[in-house]
Amino acid sequence: MIDASLYDRCVRCGLCLTSCPTYAETMTETSGPRGRIALMKAVAEGELSELAPGYGAQMSECLGCRACEAACPSGVPYGELIEAARASLHEAAAAEQPVPARPGGRELTLLLRAVERPAWLHSGARLLRFGQRSGMLGLASRLGMLRALGLDRAVRMAPPIDARFDIPDDSVVRARVSRGRAFLHLGCIAQCSSTGIHRAATKMLLLAGLDVLRPSDQRCCGALAAHAGERERAQILARANIAAFERSGADVVAIDAAGCGAQCKGYVHLLADDAQWSDRAKAFSERVRDITEILAGCELPIPTRRFEARVAYQEPCHLAHAQRITNAPKKLLQAIPGLELVALEEATLCCGGAGAYAIGESEMSARLRERKADAIRRSGASVVATANIGCMLQLRDAIAPLPIRHVVELLADAYDSEV
Ligand code: SF4
Ligand code: SF4
Repeated sequence: MIDASLYDRCVRCGLCLTSCPTYAETMTETSGPRGRIALMKAVAEGELSELAPGYGAQMSECLGCRACEAACPSGVPYGELIEAARASLHEAAAAEQPVPARPGGRELTLLLRAVERPAWLHSGARLLRFGQRSGMLGLASRLGMLRALGLDRAVRMAPPIDARFDIPDDSVVRARVSRGRAFLHLGCIAQCSSTGIHRAATKMLLLAGLDVLRPSDQRCCGALAAHAGERERAQILARANIAAFERSGADVVAIDAAGCGAQCKGYVHLLADDAQWSDRAKAFSERVRDITEILAGCELPIPTRRFEARVAYQEPCHLAHAQRITNAPKKLLQAIPGLELVALEEATLCCGGAGAYAIGESEMSARLRERKADAIRRSGASVVATANIGCMLQLRDAIAPLPIRHVVELLADAYDSEV
């Protein structure tokens, strides 16, 4: 339950408005944080029906990027408010007969169920890879079959699937001189599509003197479920990850996807009302670190390879706003010899990726993607760096042929040693 007094922390000053991507695109009060908080408050006070179409549309259009939270001088915990509002809306909608369709409908539901079940996820990814490589998906799309099945947006935004998956396997890779143990969280879809990032993260953790553990009982972080209002499912996944971490004996949870890191750091709020788990969730959240946070806090060896490139750093919302980490990734990039960091306009404005946002809100997602791609082109960068897999997927086609790489990949390439 959300504390109703939190809505009153908003003094309607409007200082958050310019940081809000949907307000920047629409210049409409209800499409900004102040308007959305007013709507949530009206629902909480019974002045507005939760099932009013305009309310659901605004709860869906919000990216959950939390830029407003970072900009707010009154400390309005917007992330908590929007997640509680969506959970309540999901429950209210589920109680309706027939259940009102949510944006993204079938595609989003399929994705949510798949990420909860590793076996489903891996089978689906293999099928997707076959379709991607054989050209059958392209053909099915041209024939309108994907649209008829209601799967066209999910398939279009799917990442290229890797030949070999990076499935957690209980292995432990030991550092030459060990200073601690890191639990590497491998995500869900990232196990099938971002294996190079995990390899780079492993290499860098070892160079930082941390043994790397990959416990097989880890699960999806639950961010997609939480953003879709499926709070109970997110809580189930959170409990599984907390238990896996406790069993592992690791000192720190290392995460190379900003969205997953923000979610795991938020378990303390997600399970705050659960008497059996609240203390364990707090202890877990305190141990979660973004990979850039860990590496920037270590004495790393001096990089051995040069990388001559002009690099624009796109700040992931869930790193910059939700975790308030902005300096660590830039510090790591600047340590790479030859790399020149160039300024990027609106670097902290959401790219429109925001988890599964593009499935339910494809039009706004595309507008924000193009806005970001234009800024990147104006920056004169030859390479784009970011620290979140979601941003990479969202931008890769829009900025092609410019490459987009994770900070940890660029950093790992700057060292000769191989894992
Ligand atoms: S900055 Fe904070 S207090 Fe001001 S309008 Fe935005 S949410 Fe409300
Ligand atoms: S979370 Fe992002 S999109 Fe939603 S109101 Fe805040 S700034 Fe706007």
